[in-house]
Amino acid sequence: MRNFCYQNILDAIGRTPIVKLNNISKDLKADIYAKLEFMNPGGSIKDRIAKYMIEKAEREGKIKPGDTIIENSSGNTALGLAIVCRQKGYNLKIVIRNTTSKEKIKMLEILGVDVIKVDANLPPEDPNSYNNYTLNYAKSNPSVYYIDQHNNLDNNEAHYMTTGPEIWEQMNGKIDYLIGAFGTGGTISGTGRFLKEKNPEVKVIGVDPVGSVFYEYFKNKKLIKPSRYLIEGMGDEFLIKTAQFEYLDDMYQVDDRKAIGWTKKLAYEEGIIAGGSSGANIWAAVKLAKEIDKPANIVTVICDSGYKYFSTIYNDDWLAEHNLI
Ligand code: PMP
Repeated sequence: MRNFCYQNILDAIGRTPIVKLNNISKDLKADIYAKLEFMNPGGSIKDRIAKYMIEKAEREGKIKPGDTIIENSSGNTALGLAIVCRQKGYNLKIVIRNTTSKEKIKMLEILGVDVIKVDANLPPEDPNSYNNYTLNYAKSNPSVYYIDQHNNLDNNEAHYMTTGPEIWEQMNGKIDYLIGAFGTGGTISGTGRFLKEKNPEVKVIGVDPVGSVFYEYFKNKKLIKPSRYLIEGMGDEFLIKTAQFEYLDDMYQVDDRKAIGWTKKLAYEEGIIAGGSSGANIWAAVKLAKEIDKPANIVTVICDSGYKYFSTIYNDDWLAEHNLI
């Protein structure tokens, strides 16, 4: 898979391995498989959409090298964009919450990105909030191109075109469930759409953190008032275009404690040091396996690397501060 000499780092995005989680699956009737997306050059699944969205915008004549791009990101899309923009000659501005892990912000700075930190405690309607700041900046600077991963369906299409076909091929079509974190929804909706087209029997399940609006909306069509949670990259404060619920059969709700606990279990039992959303995914895959209680192939995603969170979920002082020891 990766035994090529690539001529450009962008060619090293995607074609990640899938591994069976033998220890985690040990006492379950179903087998749990994980697609190792931390093996992308930027350390996350979001490299895929960064490359795809930029190249699509180039093909459509919306941007050309030398232009400036802006995006709001919990860090991973930003890192993917930083790599793509370095290679292709774009300037990049990233709007990020000031609670995002220090490691991600440091990596962006090393890559020469203009990082704009916004106060995570501002309500979503505040003009300087994470979303509004970016939107207002893009409106008042029309020469700057706003990627808008939360409403840009090329995000979902990136997974329909790459993640979905890779999983289908790697599993030889023997997949019963796809389950995983719902952030923009791009990964699960785009991949789920592809897998369902291949086999309508494949069930697709999203995972949403307590505090995000998606779970309640999916289950009861109700919009709750969002509240803060600590796992980065999952959930949102309002509905967004890329959250294509029509490709979901179900949604699970996870809390910070379960997600972090299972992230550590994943490291200890399988040797995979991942971020908190991956722990959420493993918790959800095990819950699903116990619920169905029959042989099945469950595929989930290791969304990003744990190296990005040594100051947070792998740090006892931080855990104590948030009452999570
Ligand atoms: N986990 C992490 C760590 C992420 O950065 C993201 C992206 N926001 C996700 C999960 C969810 O992926 P998606 O946006 O495709 O739903």
